[in-house]
Amino acid sequence: MTEASQKPRKIIPDPELPPQQCQHIKILDVDKPIQHVVYECWHCQTGLMTECSGKPIIEDFNGRPSVQEIKVTCPHCEKIAVRLITGEVLSTTVIPSPWGH
Ligand SMILES: [Zn+2]
Repeated sequence: MTEASQKPRKIIPDPELPPQQCQHIKILDVDKPIQHVVYECWHCQTGLMTECSGKPIIEDFNGRPSVQEIKVTCPHCEKIAVRLITGEVLSTTVIPSPWGH
C-alpha cells in the first residue's frame, strides 16, 4: 500500500501590493462640447460609455489647486467604475466592451 507523502505546505501570503490592474479607456470627441469616454468598469469589466462635458473643476485645497475627479458609478455592479477628470458627467451607458469581454 502506497501512501503519498504530504509535506505540510507553508502558505506564504501575498505581499500587499496595490492591484496591478490595467484599465482600458478611450476618450472620443475630445474637441467637441460633449466627450464620450469608452472604458471598462474597474470592478466587473463591463463595457461602459460615459458622456461628459465641460472643463475639470479645479478646487483650492489648502492653498493648492487640486483637480476634482468625478467618480462614475457602474450601472452593472454599482461600484466606482472609473474616476474621470472632467467638468460634468451627463450619462453612463452599458455597451459591449470593445476590448472583448
Ligand atoms: Zn461594474
